[in-house]
Amino acid sequence: MAAAPSASPAYRRILLKLSGEALMGEDAYGINREIVDRICAEIRDVVSAGSQVAIVVGAGNIFRGMNADGLDRATADYMGMLGTVMNALALQSALEGLGVPARAQSAIPMAPVIDSYDRHRAIAHLEQGRVVVFGGGTGNPFFTTDTAASLRGLEINADIVVKATKVDGVYDRDPVRHPDAVRYDVLSYDEVEEQ
Ligand code: UDP
Repeated sequence: MAAAPSASPAYRRILLKLSGEALMGEDAYGINREIVDRICAEIRDVVSAGSQVAIVVGAGNIFRGMNADGLDRATADYMGMLGTVMNALALQSALEGLGVPARAQSAIPMAPVIDSYDRHRAIAHLEQGRVVVFGGGTGNPFFTTDTAASLRGLEINADIVVKATKVDGVYDRDPVRHPDAVRYDVLSYDEVEEQ
């Protein structure tokens, strides 16, 4: 069981965006159980500290390992969204395995596999101390799970949206391919538009 919430956490309601690749660790693709358990243990600690946690999960660990060449974009995107549903189920299961009550919801209705997205029910789950895992992205092709994270963050009135990825900040270029890429400490919206 998760410990009883403590007095006043820094953020009452957190939306965590987890990229699919965060779930595969050093593996080439897929879900690394050890990594998933480690992430879920950290989430348990955040919940124990009194914060409500909702997660939007990506699918890079499943979808980038597949060859979707030659498929039309919308079909490939729907396949990507199905990957996020798989990750959402894996997170729900791992959290519950650690004694953290969790509910996964999908933007694409898929009974009996997973609950459908329901904003009111998601907020009620959070208020009752359950972690809510949003799968299926926005439910629309031509979007990404980063968009879904912003959208769900606004819908549930999150105090903060946190993005967990392999990269430690925003760079002027891809830091994996360009070792001389420069990291921004602070970046304004106008600078993003300009550059
Ligand atoms: N996707 C989509 N609509 C959405 C969210 C995701 O079509 O609202 C598809 C898209 O193909 C995307 C894939 O699902 O590439 C996986 O999401 P994303 O690339 O954001 O995952 P991450 O990089 O965070 O693992």
